[in-house]
Amino acid sequence: MRRLAALLLICALTSPLTLAADEVSFVGYAPRSSQTERDWESKFRDIPDPANLREYMKRMSARPHHVGSPYDKDNAEWILARFKEWGLDAHIETFNVLFPTPKVRLLEMMEPTKFTAKLEEPALAVDPTSNQKSEQLPTYNAYSPDGDVTAPLVFVNYGLPEDYEKLERLGVSVKGAIVIAKYYHSWRGVKPKVAAEHGAIGCLIYSEPHDDGYTVDNVFPNGPMRNPEGVQRGSVMDFASNSPGDPLTPGIGATADAKRLSVKEAKSIASIPVLPISYGDAQPLLAALRGPMAPEEWRGTLAIPYHIGPGAAKVHLKLAFNWDIKPVYDVIAKIPGTEAADEWIIRGNHHDAWVNGAEDPVSGQAPLLEEVRAFGTLLKQGWKPRRTIIYAAWDGEEPMLLGSTEWVEAHADELRQHAAVYINTDGNDRGLLNMGGSHTLEQFINGVAKDIADPETKMSVWERKRLSEIANASADDRKEIRQRADLRISALGSGTDFTGFLDHLGIATLDMAYEGETEQGIYHSIYDDFFWYTHFSDNDFVYGRALSQTVGTAVMRLADAEVLPFDFVDFADTVQKYTRDLQKLLKDKQDEIRERNQELDEGVFKATFDPRKPTVAPPREEMPPHLNFAPMENAGEALARSAERYRKALSAKQSALNGSESSQLAALNTKLIESERTLTNDAGLPRRPWFKHLLYAPGVYSGYGVKTVPGVREGIEQKRYAEAEQEIIRVGKALQDEAALIDSAAQMLESK
Ligand SMILES: [Zn+2]
Repeated sequence: MRRLAALLLICALTSPLTLAADEVSFVGYAPRSSQTERDWESKFRDIPDPANLREYMKRMSARPHHVGSPYDKDNAEWILARFKEWGLDAHIETFNVLFPTPKVRLLEMMEPTKFTAKLEEPALAVDPTSNQKSEQLPTYNAYSPDGDVTAPLVFVNYGLPEDYEKLERLGVSVKGAIVIAKYYHSWRGVKPKVAAEHGAIGCLIYSEPHDDGYTVDNVFPNGPMRNPEGVQRGSVMDFASNSPGDPLTPGIGATADAKRLSVKEAKSIASIPVLPISYGDAQPLLAALRGPMAPEEWRGTLAIPYHIGPGAAKVHLKLAFNWDIKPVYDVIAKIPGTEAADEWIIRGNHHDAWVNGAEDPVSGQAPLLEEVRAFGTLLKQGWKPRRTIIYAAWDGEEPMLLGSTEWVEAHADELRQHAAVYINTDGNDRGLLNMGGSHTLEQFINGVAKDIADPETKMSVWERKRLSEIANASADDRKEIRQRADLRISALGSGTDFTGFLDHLGIATLDMAYEGETEQGIYHSIYDDFFWYTHFSDNDFVYGRALSQTVGTAVMRLADAEVLPFDFVDFADTVQKYTRDLQKLLKDKQDEIRERNQELDEGVFKATFDPRKPTVAPPREEMPPHLNFAPMENAGEALARSAERYRKALSAKQSALNGSESSQLAALNTKLIESERTLTNDAGLPRRPWFKHLLYAPGVYSGYGVKTVPGVREGIEQKRYAEAEQEIIRVGKALQDEAALIDSAAQMLESK
């Protein structure tokens, strides 16, 4: 379900293909094993075929395949049959989860005029799957509660916490109101959450043409963007404050006999009724608003004056759902390892969609299938991975990571023991390789990206990414990009299936996609289908092939290495950067409050008051205290020292690795696997114990957007300074433990 912001590609890319030099050994490989690996990898990369990707997409997106639908099950069985046909040991694992579907959806304006929203995406003659009405889920937000509310309407921009601060300054309250928010800039489930915290009793979310409609490009079917009736479905489960997965079985697998909460007891269901609408349905409602004009940056591109309300516009929202338990079908395939079968490399993408889901998720699922087919071929040719490889086609990702979270919770003990790395994808388009993940894998994935050819420029996808980053960077950042050996990878928030692996269990994770050259406004609508994808995205499937090549290469290189290719130098650098970021965050906050308090003293707000456009002066705030960052600063330095020591020790030992006894290698690899677990704390983050990683988490008020060092960062952002200081100590301790673990791994290499 992940939808990342599109990047702008503005550079001309003309350099010739420059792939990594052959003679350098891979990290964690003895020279001879490295050469063998290189040969197998190059055989692997020749196999994925765009024609197959096209066929898989056609098949899997032929009919709507949401959780509980006949074609969802059909796809799972079809994927299982392919895994088996290609020679893998595979099975379907079923969980039973709460999945609400709409029974009643009514939205009408009662005053000043009558208007009833259509809430309907029409079939289009040119788009052959858009008419499968009987199988399509209606437009709705999953895990909205039932509700029947009538109230004045208030426009709240994107519905972010700062938007409500602005409303207060404008003297507008949403207490007892229904709010209307635009999609994007925060995850959709945050919008009803923040609205309810401010007293709203209902929430509408609409797709503004300025964000993914005609302001960007022509609308579907003449272009890739959202048409006036297109609606973004999606989950509004409050997962970031609680946990993702089945709301009735938090923390445990939703197996048939699992102990379940009642729907009333489930904490992650949204607190007020919420409905997504198209801009066709939103326009009459917005046009009826009165009250102050919306600030300029809030306004979209509908041909109306954007007022905030409240005023004459009164709306009636009535929603009721079938609160049913539905099966989800995870398709799991296994390639057993040889020397290190107890160390697992896991790779997944979901197969369920909101409707036909050609882009989300099939454009990522099809490359996954091609990877499995290619591995089947290599196994027949004699390739034997050292570690066990597990491939997963998850079900129920869209409602909120149901299939992957339940699997992670059901298998938590063995995963904690065996899982080395999880690699996720969730859809694919055209353009640049986006790399996110654990920074202990930053060097590794940079290395993989150097060996993948970009379909358009023929240079490596790494070089293309590097040059386009230079084209878009500030002067300081350009300098860093040119000097640093590796491109920085982004930290992971949530919004797709890695969440349970990384945030709950502390399994090192990567998440990847090609993106940036496809504009799209069909996300979670009936128009995300084969017709759209083959007209407006990777229509020749060459980026699908590149994704297969990228992820498959990463899986092989992780699975075959004598020593898992974790590296801690980039990691230590990132941790030190995060510490500086947090110090700056606090200082900026202090500066801002100091300035505002001074302006209040000076009478600035009195002087700028316009009685015809009345505003409310901001409240005087207490200055945030200074915090002691020493525990993180000291740990950062310790980490940097251990990281250098480990890198040196591994490189000195590299040529002797294949002479090492397997028990020695196993002991070292066990330590390396532990390195991500060490960054977790069993008690979890403040007020959300399911999230245990101390460095990465989705934000309580950003949703999918990551909060790095979340305990400290959210402590500062939410003005809980004493808690932030406690969290600095907790994070510092975990980082010191990490440094000690890296030191002991270095020592093992030095003493052998
Ligand atoms: Zn998805």
